[in-house]
This record gives sequence, structure tokens and C-alpha cells, in this order.
Amino acid sequence: MNLALLFDADFIDADRARLTGRRRTHLDTVLKAVEGDRIPVGRVDGNMGTGEIVKLTDDEAELIVTLDTPPPRPLPLTLVLAMPRPKMFRRVLQTATALGVKDLWLLNAYKVEKSYWQTPWLTEEALADNMVLGLEQARDTLMPKVHIRKRFKPFVEDELPGLVGEHPALVAHPGTQTPCPTHLNQPAVLCIGPEGGFIPYEVEKLQEAGCQAVHLGQRILRVETAVPVLISRLYDGCL
Ligand code: SAM
Repeated sequence: MNLALLFDADFIDADRARLTGRRRTHLDTVLKAVEGDRIPVGRVDGNMGTGEIVKLTDDEAELIVTLDTPPPRPLPLTLVLAMPRPKMFRRVLQTATALGVKDLWLLNAYKVEKSYWQTPWLTEEALADNMVLGLEQARDTLMPKVHIRKRFKPFVEDELPGLVGEHPALVAHPGTQTPCPTHLNQPAVLCIGPEGGFIPYEVEKLQEAGCQAVHLGQRILRVETAVPVLISRLYDGCL
């Protein structure tokens, strides 16, 4: 937690907030904070700044907060991700959030197991909890939007072309001819396949929707590795 994210419910006055639960515990276990210390804070979807600890009890910390710094620029990327298996999904969600992704589409694909959609990590609360961890890790406050699409074809035919528009759009697919581009400084769409990869039909449909198939070299990476590698390769200047 490199920043304590504050929610409306944490505020007891315009410039006073209370930290409880995990964030309160973190003050002891990691920061070894005492009254008078200042810690980095940010308001969800708002500014960042500092919080001076004015009162510490076992259950909560009271802070006087100054929120005067805007959060980092969002990554201008629409990330379309074939739903990973649940354990990996949680890590990928935190990582994508930490890297500045604000628009995440979770998509079904032939090699996504049906059971993955039953995971409790997809509840609104669990999504928010993991995105909070990503935002706190990276010092950001802007909560990503997550869209769930359990049917591949309607999404790719009806919605994806509108998301692509005039922007560069890519489907990461090992073994294709074109290397993944670098140094993008404009919005883009990136599709990443499931652990078993997109099947040829799916790659064709993504191409019909405007996506170019690109590779990252000979080595085939796990989804959780491919996500940060692709993002940092595309947007090295934005990170
Ligand atoms: N056997 C699968 C295949 O050949 O497509 C491997 C899939 S890989 C574990 C999971 C996803 O990560 C891929 O669908 C792709 O989107 C991305 N990926 C991993 N390594 C890649 C590479 N070298 N080039 C392009 N994409 C890659």
C-alpha cells in the first residue's frame, strides 16, 4: 500500500478521514506509523495528497488530509482479456490496474473454462477490492471500469468495432508475422487470449473487427506475464 485510498464513507469532515480494517493494520505492520506521521492518501476518483495521523487507536486512525495532487494520467488502453482462471485473474486485475488500465473487458473464448465465470472474484465487491489493491500499489485513485462479456461472437461483432473506431487495435497471438508495436502515444485496443490461446476462428473474428495480430517474439508467456509485457511495450512513455 503506497497510498491509502479513501472512500466517501471514510470522511468525517471535509478534511478529516478515518482508516479502519486492512488500511489501519498496514500502518502498524508495514509503516510502523505513529501519531504525527504523514502518509500518502488519495480519494477514490479524486486527488491525492497526504494524511497527517492525528489519532491512533487499535481500530482506527484519524487523519487530517490535504488532497492537492491529481492522480497519474490513465493509460489510454482498452484491454480485452479472455477470462483467465480465477487465481490468475485476481493477480492480472491488480497488475492491469496498477499499470493504469481504466477500461477492461472480460471476454469468453473457446478455451475459457465455463467454471471460470462462477468465481467469487467477479462479484462487484471482489472486483473493487482487487482494483483498490492495484491503485494503492501504484499510487492512483481512478477506479477502472470492468465489463463482463460471456459471449464472444456478439461482443466481437457488435461492440468491438465501436471500441476500435479509428484507433490501433491488436490481438496478441503467438506465431503471427507482425511484432507488437512500441511507443504508442494514442488510444488503442489490445486483446489478450486465454491460457490455451485464441483458436483460429477467434483470431479471424478479431481481425474482422479491426484488430491486427501481433507477437512478442518466440517465447510464449503466461497471461499474467504477457499483460505487463505488452502494456509496457506499447506505452513505455506513459508509465
Ligand atoms: N498455446 C497458446 C497459443 O499459442 O496461443 C498460448 C497462449 S498464451 C499462454 C496466453 C495469451 O498470452 C495468448 O493468447 C496471447 O494473447 C498472449 N501471449 C503470450 N505469449 C505471447 C507471444 N509470444 N506473442 C503474442 N502473444 C502472446
